[in-house]
Amino acid sequence: MLPDHNLIPHLIHQCTLIEINKVAENWYRLKLQAPAAAAYAEPGQFVHLRAGSASDPLLRRPFSIHNADSRANEIWLLIRVAGKVTSALAGLSPGGIINILGPLGTGFPVPDDEGSALLVAGGIGLAPLYFLTLRRQAAALPTELLLGGLTGNALPDDSFFFRDGVHPLIATNDGSRGYRGTAADLLEMRLQSGIRPTRIFACGPVSMLARVVELGRNCGLPVYVSLESFLACAVGACLGCAFPFKTDDHIEYRRVCRDGPVFSGEEACFELV
Ligand SMILES: Cc1cc2nc3c(=O)[nH]c(=O)nc-3n(C[C@H](O)[C@H](O)[C@H](O)COP(=O)(O)OP(=O)(O)OC[C@H]3O[C@@H](n4cnc5c(N)ncnc54)[C@H](O)[C@@H]3O)c2cc1C
Repeated sequence: MLPDHNLIPHLIHQCTLIEINKVAENWYRLKLQAPAAAAYAEPGQFVHLRAGSASDPLLRRPFSIHNADSRANEIWLLIRVAGKVTSALAGLSPGGIINILGPLGTGFPVPDDEGSALLVAGGIGLAPLYFLTLRRQAAALPTELLLGGLTGNALPDDSFFFRDGVHPLIATNDGSRGYRGTAADLLEMRLQSGIRPTRIFACGPVSMLARVVELGRNCGLPVYVSLESFLACAVGACLGCAFPFKTDDHIEYRRVCRDGPVFSGEEACFELV
């Protein structure tokens, strides 16, 4: 549910880190005690967070909610170290404090109909799709997760997935784990094998998303994409994250933070970014 701007102060919480694990080269999974976020989080939503002092870095950073457990009052994040904030998060110990704003954004359409879904994750795009996988599996909805990475070390190992009952089909660019190729290649292979899901969900680099949308279009399948953009306010006010979409006869810009981050892929103009 999108927050009303008047509710934003109620979405800001000081959360305690309760567990942090390195799960792959430069990837960490964090579990936070975050009762309010855990109660309302939906797959595809994100938190805008601050780790460290209030002024450095000045802007919060967005991270997808990787799982939420309302009974345990926990949310999980999955981060790949990229810069200042992710380095700071990776260096935290249990007991550390993280200031979060969220959950924010419009997530994936769940609960879904009884239809089957193919979920296509490129690298850290796994973060939101994992939450969607768990929710769909809990609702007994047929779900297949396809995951691509550059190399085997760049992805979590099997135990990461198996303990949650998740069994992804994996591809790596160098063939060091799973199939040789990309997540989009995996999707193409699955579609060529004749399976026809009701819909496709994808999160990853723009070039991957563009190809996934094209593959979906060729089979007449709707594709939902979770987009990334550099967010400043994350609540729809600054318009800094605007992404181009085509409507009937013109291009319009929509806010990744508030109108998304999940959109119909068919309308996204990947060629303009
Ligand atoms: C909705 C959403 C969900 C996300 N979920 C996740 C997630 O679950 N896990 C995850 O690891 N990441 C996620 N991200 C990406 C993450 O927010 C960014 O990578 C974030 O910038 C990392 O912060 P940092 O301070 O560590 O790195 P930064 O200092 O922000 O730098 C990261 C990289 O981006 C470059 N960069 C920074 N600002 C700009 C700019 N304005 N223009 C061009 N390049 C720039 C830097 O040079 C550097 O290479 C998500 C992003 C969005 C929008």
